[in-house]
Amino acid sequence: MNLFKHSASSSRINNERSLAYSLILLSFFIFFISSCSQKSDTTSFTAMNTYMTVKSYGKKSAAANHLVQEEVERLEKILSTTIEGSDIHRINNSVPDNNQFSKIPVSPETTYLIEKSLEIYKMTDHAFNPALYPVIREWGFTTGDYKVPSDEKIRQLLELTDFSKIKISPKLVSTPSLDSLLKADHEKGLSSTASIITKPLGMQLDFGAIGKGYAGDRAIEVLKNAGVKSALLDFGGNIQVLGTKPDGKPWTVGIKNPWDGEPVAAVKLSDACMITSGGYERFFTGEDGKKYIHIFDSATGRPVENDLESVTIVCREGLYGDALSTSLFVMGLDKAIDFWKSRDRDFDFVIITKDKSIVYTAPLENSISLLFDFDKVQVVE
Ligand code: AMP
Ligand code: MG
Repeated sequence: MNLFKHSASSSRINNERSLAYSLILLSFFIFFISSCSQKSDTTSFTAMNTYMTVKSYGKKSAAANHLVQEEVERLEKILSTTIEGSDIHRINNSVPDNNQFSKIPVSPETTYLIEKSLEIYKMTDHAFNPALYPVIREWGFTTGDYKVPSDEKIRQLLELTDFSKIKISPKLVSTPSLDSLLKADHEKGLSSTASIITKPLGMQLDFGAIGKGYAGDRAIEVLKNAGVKSALLDFGGNIQVLGTKPDGKPWTVGIKNPWDGEPVAAVKLSDACMITSGGYERFFTGEDGKKYIHIFDSATGRPVENDLESVTIVCREGLYGDALSTSLFVMGLDKAIDFWKSRDRDFDFVIITKDKSIVYTAPLENSISLLFDFDKVQVVE
């Protein structure tokens, strides 16, 4: 009897256990299916001379991605150097008054970018300089009609590149709110006037080094406002992620090998951007056989010549990451390391040099994996 009783209760316990296991398995299965089948949408388009892709998750992903495309296209119409009527085109082609200054009304976005740029221009000791446009154009990087200008021509054009001479009135204190941006006149692709820019004769701007990073920040804000919690933007190698992957794990993003495009390192990211500048992206070979890249040294008015292949910045804000990837490339390795230390480590970097070494900042140690047999690995503390 006892035995029977015992075996009856043990079989009941076994049944309850197997029911519990089945329920646990079922709930794991449902969780797995729902996370695998979470709705997603991938939208690709070309804007700012770049092939851009937005992948977002959630019920509203398709509508949200459409809003991102609209927002980036709207920003392009404001910030482009070539689209007539854009703020930057109007700034660059303005007619000066008798005192040789021009006053140009501009949108909140342009005001914000100029303010931020002035901050970064000072912070980087002019490594970042959006007023280099006349010099960069003379070298043919805007037209594809490449040439090495004379020293005298470069010297003359450098006179026009003192970005600190630009004035803004009134100043904006914070990012223009999305509401004010969305109230913009979408049909014309412009938004309301925020302030007046005063610039000296001949000064011309180009936000090529920060425009995509800024557009990425706006895109993330559009996605958040549309209720998206998980997304990855690839704006021509500028990667920005919102949240984590839908399964709660960080995104894994590769850094390309400048030599043949293979990933040489992977970094785990959530709510962050990873932005690379590299001489290999755009360059021409002069009649002298030398390679001239699209990143310029504002001290010399010439393409940067150093031992770096690429600089990747990891940080929260796309605008900052984009500006710094260009700036640290201009600085070169030693100054880049000093700059990182002086900035209270508010970003991280991964630098790949021409002699196949990799240098990265210590906080990345837990999130970076190396996928290439580098000759030297240096971790900056
Ligand atoms: P990125 O690919 O983000 O490094 O940006 C490079 C682009 O920014 C170039 O194609 C130029 O239009 C512009 N540029 C080049 N050198 C500088 C510089 N030192 N500061 C700011 N913008 C620059
Ligand atoms: Mg940049």
